[in-house]
Amino acid sequence: MTDNIAIVTGGSRGIGRAAALKLGRAGYTVVVNYTANEAAANEVVKSITAAGGRAVAVKGDVALESDILALFAAADRLGPLKVLVNNAGVMDQQNRLDEMTTARIRRILDINTFGAIICAREAVKRMSTKHGGTGGSIVNMSSAAAYHGAPGLGVEYGASKGAIDVLTIGLGREVAAEGVRVNALRPGIIDTEIHDSSGIPGRVKMMRDAIPMKREGTADEVADAIMWLCSEQSSYVTGSIIPVAGGRC
Ligand code: NAP
Repeated sequence: MTDNIAIVTGGSRGIGRAAALKLGRAGYTVVVNYTANEAAANEVVKSITAAGGRAVAVKGDVALESDILALFAAADRLGPLKVLVNNAGVMDQQNRLDEMTTARIRRILDINTFGAIICAREAVKRMSTKHGGTGGSIVNMSSAAAYHGAPGLGVEYGASKGAIDVLTIGLGREVAAEGVRVNALRPGIIDTEIHDSSGIPGRVKMMRDAIPMKREGTADEVADAIMWLCSEQSSYVTGSIIPVAGGRC
């Protein structure tokens, strides 16, 4: 075990939960961020500590800069930040753009895009050799929607993830010589609770035929890719966007 810190935003459920558990097993002290589901976050912490690891749950809404600053301050008290899994994200009900309220569009962009950008900024301030850090890895969570656009489902979601791709390319290059690697994953259809927000019953199963592998992915399969991007095995990889989508990309 090291005192290296990994922050996982949205670490209480789904892909973030799977990543937090694996990071805990790999010896990181894991800061499990959540916004509403305290019981789920505490369960992740309990699983990590029961396996001999270290973890804390920190409540915070990534749509709010003040919450992000408090989240990173909590991590600072534990040790040096080496990993940010920039994962917290939401979808909304299936809608065309001309049916969406401004409040809905703002919420999606605030959580998925603004939150991820501010979290990445705070991570760079701690990891970059320019700021006295010793390097680290930022893994952004994009989506296959960043390239197919999610027409008829949620183009604002697709756009919020397209911005994550561009952030990854630009920031990856900006800090490449400062020990910080910035990459993104583009998951396809992964079996998590996020699909419930679409309001389409059984959406995951319904999508199977459209996936070349004819099945959805698991949160663990995405977390394995996260672990690779956090590890020295990917030491020459930065500014990259990697689909984890069963061939649907
Ligand atoms: P999920 O199962 O619904 O979990 C979402 C997580 O994000 C939860 O831990 C939730 O916390 C947290 N969260 C939501 N809003 C937040 C906020 N404002 N501040 C902080 N945390 C917040 O979702 P998932 O499927 O694992 O998705 C994780 C990421 O992968 C998202 O960025 C999503 O867009 C992306 N993605 C998912 C899929 C897929 O098919 N599942 C595909 C492509 C991309 P609480 O538990 O407190 O609610």
